[in-house]
Amino acid sequence: MIPEPKSQSEKSLAILGSTGSIGTSALKIVRMHPERFNVEALTGANNVALLADQIREFKPAVVAVLDAAKADELSLLLKDEQKPEILYGEAGFVAAAQWADADMVLLAMVGAAGLAPALAAIDAGKEIALANKETLVMAGDLVMAKAKEKGVEILPVDSEHSAIFQCMRGSRRRDFRRIFLTASGGPFRSRSLDTFGEITLADALNHPTWDMGAKITIDSATLMNKGLEVVEAVQLFGITHEQIEVLVHPQSIVHSMVGFRDGGVIAQMGVPDMMEAIAYAFAFPGRVDLDTGFPDFAAIGNLTFEAPDTRKFPSLEFAFEACRRKGTLPAVMNAANEIAVAAFLAERIRFLDIFTMISEVMGRHTRIDNPELSGIIEADTWARETTESLISRISNRN
Ligand code: MG
Repeated sequence: MIPEPKSQSEKSLAILGSTGSIGTSALKIVRMHPERFNVEALTGANNVALLADQIREFKPAVVAVLDAAKADELSLLLKDEQKPEILYGEAGFVAAAQWADADMVLLAMVGAAGLAPALAAIDAGKEIALANKETLVMAGDLVMAKAKEKGVEILPVDSEHSAIFQCMRGSRRRDFRRIFLTASGGPFRSRSLDTFGEITLADALNHPTWDMGAKITIDSATLMNKGLEVVEAVQLFGITHEQIEVLVHPQSIVHSMVGFRDGGVIAQMGVPDMMEAIAYAFAFPGRVDLDTGFPDFAAIGNLTFEAPDTRKFPSLEFAFEACRRKGTLPAVMNAANEIAVAAFLAERIRFLDIFTMISEVMGRHTRIDNPELSGIIEADTWARETTESLISRISNRN
């Protein structure tokens, strides 16, 4: 059962990943609507200075950080001020996810680290606002089954999935046919494949329309972000990958569209800003005021759509293959991508090596059908180690 909010007007939040891009936007919404939302729990990995500021402003009852050293650092920063309970590590994140006084948990941690807290929050019957797409990519079958068992609604915070969720409201399930998943196309949409070998880290970090964290910005440049979103959509909406069409839409105004049996299509639009998707999940089934404003349609003039170029961005094919073959393969794709992106951010490998790594590791993997959580974690660990050893070979060569 989803716990009732303390009053009609107030919802208590646990924000996991509060120092990241989604987390800080979420806190902006809380700051704008103190009568609607309050913060019970915050977690961050490393940025304890920002976390300390957030604690002073939002006064959560509990916080969790990466490890004991970070917990000590945070405790020192807060000196004699009124301190929340300070926890750390996976056990700390899980405790924050299950915090008794929180009604809703925003899962905005980056990468595979978000999985255990997500399962814990669902287990505790919390209402879920899900921004961590890796959770559904790695273990979507388990996560969705547990949510169903616990009667927990998962509200998507990814802008595309929030759009799809909004477009589906008020329609009958059997009338639904297709998802048009839009992609900005990233910074290399119109760059010639011949020059992909020269792409630098700075080029890849320069996203044309969305302002996001480093990992997801690289994922947008490779289009792996869209690949992960394909897997995420299959899980969230209980559809097949054949029902998804990816469309490159550089203006990022149409956040995604849903097609019905009669050929009708409903699109959800807005300016490219994560605030709306976060606020929608927080206030669901209602809405709250934001100062984002509407798109200036007359100034934008044209909304354009094109098919993605999978020769330039094979990541989309990896994702469709992962959807086709399922089992542990999506988790392996995700893990190989995380390690490859981290190596690219550390300038240990080149842009095109990211694709080579993922393809190699997916090819080498011995897939398991219907894995338990332990099987998924094992495949994830194997993929990380295999990717890392391939990277060491490349960086030695360079
Ligand atoms: Mg997205």
